[in-house]
Amino acid sequence: MPSDSRLILVLNSGSSSLKFAVHDTGTPIPLLSGLAERLTGEGPTITFKDDSGKQAHPLPEASHAAALDAVLAELTRRGWIDSLTAVGHRVVHGGERFTHSVLITPSVITDIEAVSPLAPLHNPAAVLGMRVALQRLPSIPHVVVVDTAFHQTMKPEAFLYAIPMEFYRKHGVRRYGFHGTSHRYVAGETVKLLHLDPNDHGLVVCHLGNGASATAVQDGCCVDTSMGMTPLEGLVMGTRSGDIDAAAVLHIMRITGRGPDEMNTLLNKESGLLAVSELSNDCRELEAAAEDGHAGAQLALEVFAHRLARHIGGLAMALRRLDAVVFTGGIGENSARVRAMTLARLRPLGLQMDAAANACMTRGAAGIISVQGTTPIVAVVPTNEEWMIACDTDQLARQAAGALVEAD
Ligand code: ADP
Repeated sequence: MPSDSRLILVLNSGSSSLKFAVHDTGTPIPLLSGLAERLTGEGPTITFKDDSGKQAHPLPEASHAAALDAVLAELTRRGWIDSLTAVGHRVVHGGERFTHSVLITPSVITDIEAVSPLAPLHNPAAVLGMRVALQRLPSIPHVVVVDTAFHQTMKPEAFLYAIPMEFYRKHGVRRYGFHGTSHRYVAGETVKLLHLDPNDHGLVVCHLGNGASATAVQDGCCVDTSMGMTPLEGLVMGTRSGDIDAAAVLHIMRITGRGPDEMNTLLNKESGLLAVSELSNDCRELEAAAEDGHAGAQLALEVFAHRLARHIGGLAMALRRLDAVVFTGGIGENSARVRAMTLARLRPLGLQMDAAANACMTRGAAGIISVQGTTPIVAVVPTNEEWMIACDTDQLARQAAGALVEAD
């Protein structure tokens, strides 16, 4: 490790897990990454992954603090700890308070806690991770990178639900959008790949993983997105329903006697590809099953593609001009079949897929899959949320260091 290396630790705290990545600021591939799991139960473990492979170890205690201690011990063992310059924390929900990444101060933590009612599972876990990390690493800057921040440029016409305004004014009920760090990164990479004008372009970015959302990006800013107040709205996902008539939800509650928590589980964990296929939430498994003639798997993929195409068409109307549709995330980057099924439904927008280019996309590579010379262009661009978090963190840490020097 060169002595002038600047290492950034990226943390993503879940309620019972801690994902981490260590980036050298010069390169998008992490030097080390991993996951600590079962942090509230029996048998907590941590897995480290680097270019030599994966290694799992038991943790002495089931807690976020034990997990972070194991990460720091590993950095010490590798002789990297003195090069650690900043920590970036991923936060899912920033309400209207966060429009971009910021250095963590006590008031930032209070603001994240204040929007916890909108993300009751995610935000308290993120705050717990921050508190532990601030305690263990008090002398380096910590930064929050918020998933909703990129979408804060949406206008009221895009973010309001047409329900009485008091719910927005008093309780923050509105559309926020998620996966913002991925959408921002992929939009920026697409502008470079396609040599678009950074100040004059229109994209629809489709982030298709276990969770899925699509965003209309104009001139680098989000103008509309498919997810709403929570990550449930919009596209069909692995186990989430996406859009559903609210009256259908009320009807199911009445006829089955289910309460709000049970409906939350049904719509977030028991729906989506899993529910329609009656087989799996995993796109790769569904493709294999559809290939073998499983009707449910084929139907689930059709429903997924239909909903996605409908959203892409709708989102394009929020733009001044549609230059490109971009696929990213585990499904978007790897499933030629889902891309083809979606694009076949988008011919009215003039999209023309190059079947050979679509089939030949290599894993992890960016490329164009539309017929050469046609517009809008269709591209595949791998996402890298951790790298985007590391870049924001490094930039803010450098600014903070510069401000300190100036103050001296
Ligand atoms: P997460 O949202 O949890 O980060 P990912 O972005 O890794 O998830 O995406 C996971 C999804 O990508 C799963 O449905 C998985 O089946 C799908 N996927 C990964 N590789 C392939 C592939 N080669 N073909 C089709 N689907 C794939």
